[in-house]
Amino acid sequence: MSPMMLLAVYGAALVVSSVAGGALTQRVAMTHTRAQLAMSLVSGLMLGIAFFHLLPHAVLTLGIHHGLTTVMSWTMGGLIVMLLLLRILHFHQPDYPAEAIAVCEHGHDHGHKHGAAETGVPAAREVTSVMAPGVSWRGVLIGLTFHTFIDGVALGAALLSAPHGHQQQLLGFGVFLAILLHKPLDAMSIVALMKASGTTASSQTRANLLFAFVCPLGALLFYFYAMGLGGSGELVIASALAFSAGAFVCIALSDLLPEVQFHSHDRVKLTAVFLLGIALAFMMANTAAKHSHAIASLSPV
Ligand SMILES: [Zn+2]
Ligand SMILES: [Zn+2]
Repeated sequence: MSPMMLLAVYGAALVVSSVAGGALTQRVAMTHTRAQLAMSLVSGLMLGIAFFHLLPHAVLTLGIHHGLTTVMSWTMGGLIVMLLLLRILHFHQPDYPAEAIAVCEHGHDHGHKHGAAETGVPAAREVTSVMAPGVSWRGVLIGLTFHTFIDGVALGAALLSAPHGHQQQLLGFGVFLAILLHKPLDAMSIVALMKASGTTASSQTRANLLFAFVCPLGALLFYFYAMGLGGSGELVIASALAFSAGAFVCIALSDLLPEVQFHSHDRVKLTAVFLLGIALAFMMANTAAKHSHAIASLSPV
């Protein structure tokens, strides 16, 4: 399949998954444990994609001797930018109502509704958030839009990065899969927060639909931008891969760490799906390496 066809197929699938995530949230109340299980799996996958796909390919694109400092600088840049955005806009890690389990063993309140644990009745309608007070859904939407645009850039760069013509499709696929599974969670955050803020169903639907096109748009714009650069595009592609690796790491950890620090329920299950996500990314990288006999000779250019 040509990269353009692939981009179209990936883009369409991403729109569908994002819209589905938001639409589901409009109808069904997401529970805390389910949201955490999904987040742990997807975070593991994102970390795996960052370490086993994005970073190695960024390095391979530039060559290990000259490219390493550039790649690591861009990785750090991606991490810092995403952290600052999270700090300013608090756009990730929404909290969903706790089921009838003792969710919070820790003494202080970080926005959790304790009603469920205390009364034993699932607080189905109480969509709360651990986000800082006063954070509006508009701010969250802006943050998520930027984050999703970067995801799109990662996908576009992945499709273009094929050192010596190898692994192009599988690299694109790994990144695609991570975004495909992560994006519904982002759409869910938007809709859940809009719901909690009392917006109308039609404006929720509108935001959900518009948001779904951000990632394919990012991929498309980056793809044509880097294509237009011709030979000098390699540096831009490698930088984009490295930048998005840093962003992936930051986003994945921002989802994982609050749960690790504040909660102690379902630890085995959550750890298992987290490792499963990493294993999935590792297996995809390994399959790609097997099919690419030239992997060993790729490094020093
Ligand atoms: Zn996200
Ligand atoms: Zn929890």
